[in-house]
Amino acid sequence: MDCIFCKIANKEINAEIISEDDKFVVFKDINPKAPVHLLIIPKAHIGPINTLDDKDRETITGIIFKAKEMAEKVGVSESGYRLIFNIGKDAGMEVNHLHLHLLASKQLEF
Ligand code: AMP
Repeated sequence: MDCIFCKIANKEINAEIISEDDKFVVFKDINPKAPVHLLIIPKAHIGPINTLDDKDRETITGIIFKAKEMAEKVGVSESGYRLIFNIGKDAGMEVNHLHLHLLASKQLEF
C-alpha cells in the first residue's frame, strides 16, 4: 500500500520520531502549525475516523492516551494543547492513515 504514514512507521522514509512503542509512533509534523505539532499514528494501517469499526475501539482509546502521555512528555500538559482529527476533504485531510494532531505552545486560534 502506498501510504506515507505506513512508510514512516516502517522506517522506509525518515521522520523526526519522538516516541514509539509496539502500537504507536509519534513524530513531528513536517509543516508545523504551532511550535509543538506532533502526529500520533497507529503502526497498523487504519483509515480515518469515518471508516472505523468495532475492532478499532482499542486503537482509538490508545491514541488518546498516547496523546495525553506525549503532552506530559513535551511539557504542555498544564499550559494546554489541542487534539485534532481531520476527516475528509472539507477538513483538509491529506493522509488516509489515522492520525491525531497535537498542537501546543502558543495561544491557538480556532
Ligand atoms: P491531515 O491534513 O490531517 O491529513 O494532516 C496530515 C499532516 O501530515 C499534515 O499536517 C502534514 O504536514 C503532515 N505530513 C505529511 N507528510 C509528512 C511527513 N513525511 N513527515 C511529517 N509530517 C508529514
